[in-house]
Amino acid sequence: MPHDDHDHPHSLLPPEPALRVKALETILTAKGLVDPAALDEILDTYERKVGPHLGAAVVARAWSDPDYRARLLADATAAIAELEISGRQGEHMVAVENTPETHNMVVCTLCSCYPWPVLGIPPGWYKSDAYRARAVREPRKVLAEFGVTLPDGQKVRVWDSTAEVRYLVIPMRPAGTEGLDEAALARLVTRDSMIGTGLPTGPA
Ligand code: FE
Repeated sequence: MPHDDHDHPHSLLPPEPALRVKALETILTAKGLVDPAALDEILDTYERKVGPHLGAAVVARAWSDPDYRARLLADATAAIAELEISGRQGEHMVAVENTPETHNMVVCTLCSCYPWPVLGIPPGWYKSDAYRARAVREPRKVLAEFGVTLPDGQKVRVWDSTAEVRYLVIPMRPAGTEGLDEAALARLVTRDSMIGTGLPTGPA
C-alpha cells in the first residue's frame, strides 16, 4: 500500500513523551489509581492559577514593607503563607536577597527541585543537564548567556535546591521605582529574576 509521511499512520500519534504520558494516564485510570478529574484539577491549577505572578507579589511586598522583608528573610515559608501562598514543593522555602555585593542564583544539580507555589512549573532550561552542571561550574558565563552581566565586584552565590529546601531570589529593587505601589512593582519582577538568571525590568 503506497503512503507518504503525511498519511503515515504514525503521524496521527502524539510525539513520544506525550504518548507515554497518555498511556500511563490510561493505565493508572483503568486501575483506579488516579482520578482523571483530580488530575485535570492539578493541571488546571499549575497552568492557570500558580505561577511567577505569586512570587512577584512576595518580592514586591518585601520591597515595599521592611518588616515583611525581615520576616521573609527569617522564615520564608511563613512569610509567603501570609500572602496565602503555599503548597507542594514549597514547604521549606528560603529567601535569598541580592545585594550590591552578592548576586544569588538557584539550580538543582540533582534533578529539578523548584519552588512551585511561588514560581509555577520550572522552565525547560532549568531541568536541562547543561544548566544543572554549568550553573555551578561557570555561573558568570551562564548568566552572560541569559543576558546578565554583573559588575566585577559583585560575587555570585549559587544555591543548590533539594527536596527539602527551595530557594526564592529577592532581586534588588530597580532604581527609579520609588513612586510605584506594590502592584506596579510586582510587574517588574520577572520569573528569571527570582531564579537569579535574570534581573527585574526597569520602570516604564
Ligand atoms: Fe531536584
